[in-house]
Amino acid sequence: MPENVALPLSLYVHLPWCLSKCPYCDFNSHAWRGSLRELPEARYLDALQADLEASLPNVRGRSVSTVFIGGGTPSLFSPDAIERLLATIRARLRVAPGAEVTMEANPGTFEAQRFAAYAQAGVTRLSIGVQSFSDDALRALGRVHDARQARAAIEEAARSFASFNIDLMYALPGQTLQGLRDDLASALAFGPPHLSLYHLTIEPATAFAKRPPPLPDDDLSADMLALAGDTLGAAGFERYEVSAWARPGARCRHNLNYWEFGDYLGIGAGAHGKLTFHDRIVREARVRQPERYVDAALAASAIGEERIVSCDELPFEFMLNALRLTEGVPAAWFSERTGQSVAAIGRERARAVERGLLEADPTRIRATPLGLRFLNDLLGLFLKNDDRR
Ligand code: SF4
Repeated sequence: MPENVALPLSLYVHLPWCLSKCPYCDFNSHAWRGSLRELPEARYLDALQADLEASLPNVRGRSVSTVFIGGGTPSLFSPDAIERLLATIRARLRVAPGAEVTMEANPGTFEAQRFAAYAQAGVTRLSIGVQSFSDDALRALGRVHDARQARAAIEEAARSFASFNIDLMYALPGQTLQGLRDDLASALAFGPPHLSLYHLTIEPATAFAKRPPPLPDDDLSADMLALAGDTLGAAGFERYEVSAWARPGARCRHNLNYWEFGDYLGIGAGAHGKLTFHDRIVREARVRQPERYVDAALAASAIGEERIVSCDELPFEFMLNALRLTEGVPAAWFSERTGQSVAAIGRERARAVERGLLEADPTRIRATPLGLRFLNDLLGLFLKNDDRR
């Protein structure tokens, strides 16, 4: 197993509350029922600080190259709270010079008014959850903002941040190809450095799972993805991951570290982490429910689950991430980052190459265009005891 100090380390911070719960959302997000003035910012920040302090022995001597403040809707937290959070982090962790500090935000009016202050507080990159510029689609998705607010928020983000991302979704209820074309054109008009485009999927235990809306079929969804690829490619974007497009130099370094099987510490309600030690790789998850998390973190027991990733699971876990990248990763990273010889997956790689799902290049692990399209089939080849092999 490699020494843990050799792997890049990121920090993820989860802020769990939203104004309401979107019917498709299966994130650990919780509708805040009270007035925003009552949001327990200070107590939650105390909990994050305690959580971070309890985690320090696991990352001693390492520096953090990216920070991601996600949710939930982190922009419900005031700029002062975000400034205190970043100061707490910098006082306890070595944050590398030039570190990327991303924060997620929703396009509500009062949130957009805070964007400049978030930049002042130390956030370097904003990711805005726009989803669509169609008011009908936004209503169908249960979003609390409308298209006018989305446009105003992006304008404000472009003024305040050199780097920002627009999150869009496709295959929406009732969406047509023209509808997606319009959404892409609206997004591109703002010159975003980065664009994420997610396929709407119906996840179990969501309101949409109980009452599924009418959705585009698989053929139309595939046409939509092809349209997005053509449109964004022509606008100078590179698709570097299944759902992520960026202009040169604007890729999300934090997410890249996940996909490249780097390490990350996750603090906050329900946050996940992955840490590599000289003899093991550990995955941990914080207590999910926000109030319980706060109590647990303040009692120095924020971790709800912790497990060592077994040797049998590691190849699949590595592939699950690396194969999402359109350029793949150097084959040598497999042994550097899992501690196993690349020969351990020789048979599976050969099968995947045979089926046209993986590039034959022995120096890289990279899905072919067919493999990217049928990613689950490709990944299935790396599952231990999978009968599709
Ligand atoms: S705003 Fe985002 S995190 Fe919150 S409920 Fe909606 S999709 Fe989930």
